[in-house]
Amino acid sequence: MIHYKSAEEIELVRESAQIVSKTLGLVAKEIKPGVTPFYLDKLAEEFIRDHGAEPGFLGLYGCPSTLLTSVNEAVVHGIPTNKPLQEGDIISVDCGAKKNGYYGDHAYTFQIGEVRFEVKQLLKVTLECLYIGIEATNTSNRLGDVGYAIQQHAESHGYGVVRELVGHGLGKAMHESPDVPNYGKRGKGQRIKNGLVIAIEPMINLGTRRVKQLSDGWTIVTADRLPSAHFEHNVAVVNGKAEILSTFDFVEEVTTQRLAV
Ligand code: MG
Ligand code: MG
Repeated sequence: MIHYKSAEEIELVRESAQIVSKTLGLVAKEIKPGVTPFYLDKLAEEFIRDHGAEPGFLGLYGCPSTLLTSVNEAVVHGIPTNKPLQEGDIISVDCGAKKNGYYGDHAYTFQIGEVRFEVKQLLKVTLECLYIGIEATNTSNRLGDVGYAIQQHAESHGYGVVRELVGHGLGKAMHESPDVPNYGKRGKGQRIKNGLVIAIEPMINLGTRRVKQLSDGWTIVTADRLPSAHFEHNVAVVNGKAEILSTFDFVEEVTTQRLAV
């Protein structure tokens, strides 16, 4: 059953989402060759607690970390390690926070130094997929239209759209109904209504859409070990269309500066 949110509840999700947005901004400042995902994880945990919130993932389903850090061929659910990031890597940093009983949850894929062109292009198109999905999240549509829009854009570039992992409703729980697949058929699925609060999170692979889970029981990797990208926002449907509750502004301030150096 979908729990449609009141304006008050949407504000609470926004507050938690903004804490995540600022945490990703902090990560953006620190991320460079030689830094370890484990270090980023500790920083993120401290930052979230300093903002009167709790890490959203830590302890959830037994998750041992605040961030999920997925490097290169890892799609999602990578556990932060002590392996230093290297020039040319990409890393999806996914973060959750809970404040006043409501969750925020989003993700950004960062480039470490100079990344090869085809990987940069994958990141660009995956980010476009996210905003195309958000645009399709309106009360004239059904959830299948959202997945369809994302899938079309990704596949038009020859990329693989992951099927096994999907976006989701969020609120008092990190994962609520409905599922929000990044693939779908036009006019199918749940009708989109005001008060719907969801995480939209395209996971797009450079090669095959097929994925595997590593023996750590967490990390999802591409079956062909080619890179994968992941961007996520939290949105609420208000007055017929999607309002983005999270922001990449804190990240983009930093990454733009770095690109300009
Ligand atoms: Mg997430
Ligand atoms: Mg999510």
